[in-house]
Amino acid sequence: MFICSCFVITAMKNKIDNGANTLKVNEGVEQPPVVNPLLESKLSRYKKRNVNVAALFDGILKGDRTSLSRAITMIESRLPGDQQSARELINMCLPHSGNSVRIGITGVPGVGKSTFIEAYGLYKIERGGKVAVLSIDPSSTRTKGSILGDKTRMERLSINANAYIRPSASAGTLGGVARKTRESIILCEAAGYDTVFVETVGVGQSETEVAKITDFFLLLLLAGGGDELQGIKRGIMEMADLLIINKADGDNIKRAQLAKREYENALHLFPPLESGWKPKVITASAVNGTGLDTIDDAVKHFLAVTKKNGFFDKNRKEQDVSLFEQNIRNALIDAFFQDKNMKHLYDTYRKKISSKEISPYEAADEILKVYFAK
Ligand code: GDP
Repeated sequence: MFICSCFVITAMKNKIDNGANTLKVNEGVEQPPVVNPLLESKLSRYKKRNVNVAALFDGILKGDRTSLSRAITMIESRLPGDQQSARELINMCLPHSGNSVRIGITGVPGVGKSTFIEAYGLYKIERGGKVAVLSIDPSSTRTKGSILGDKTRMERLSINANAYIRPSASAGTLGGVARKTRESIILCEAAGYDTVFVETVGVGQSETEVAKITDFFLLLLLAGGGDELQGIKRGIMEMADLLIINKADGDNIKRAQLAKREYENALHLFPPLESGWKPKVITASAVNGTGLDTIDDAVKHFLAVTKKNGFFDKNRKEQDVSLFEQNIRNALIDAFFQDKNMKHLYDTYRKKISSKEISPYEAADEILKVYFAK
């Protein structure tokens, strides 16, 4: 058993997904900004767009999905007026939030994330739940294409009255996407969703960000032929509360069971989680719906353990504090770059660093001295 860093090749060899191209990154074109930058500077003169925050809040509390969508669009907007309205709305929604299980879910493209979320989402809805799915698609930086794919995803779930599916804006910094996703979670909770999935692609850094805004972290894996610990970075596996070997169906069942044992053995070698929870490995078939009961039991068991030992609340509080710190950091950075003089000085220092006139450390010291002396 060894970790193979060359996941792509291995996974391609293991054609176990009924012919689907497991690791395809769609070619794409660079995403344009949401708002035309020329227009944006003109629009920013207006303090507020014509947004009725009170009406949106009412709509959200009534579970109206159109209001929820509008509100999330407002959160994602870069217009200063919208940002101010978004803050007001979030403050209003906060007392009505917190009552969901926030589940982070990751896995390489093709592992079956959307099929699984649909199956488990419908399972929760059949049992009286309301399910929101927020997908973070970091986009391939190389091809500028979407990693989550442009195919229609979760068709049955998306038409269900008790489900809400929202792909996130993929542009911008990861931290920014996570912050906005966190705010979207608050709105979804205020709208009555009691299970919120935050989906991401298990190939980059976004998982760490997602783990910081969720309660439970779920990793979907495929059974390979022999080299079981493929691809997914060890760090991601260490964060997982539950490992699901998906596609355990047809002639893949045996391989999945073998993989389950291998992963269980691997988990023994990892340091214990702060939550006091021992991660589990479960085989499932998102297509057939097998394993869902066991998975749901594991989530419930996790909640029981972590609520009893205090980790659940502690973790959420710590997440709030780290959000507070992140907001300060972002506000400072925004203030710095919105200052025209600093922007000019920044460009000058960049050139100096490139021509080795000054070290990056000295440059940072000097520019900050100027900034804070103002
Ligand atoms: P994602 O890219 O991780 O969201 O993966 P998808 O949910 O789009 O699934 C990729 C492919 O795997 C699709 O063709 C699915 O039908 C197939 N798939 C997903 N789950 C299962 C499963 O449990 N068993 C089998 N045999 N195929 C599956």
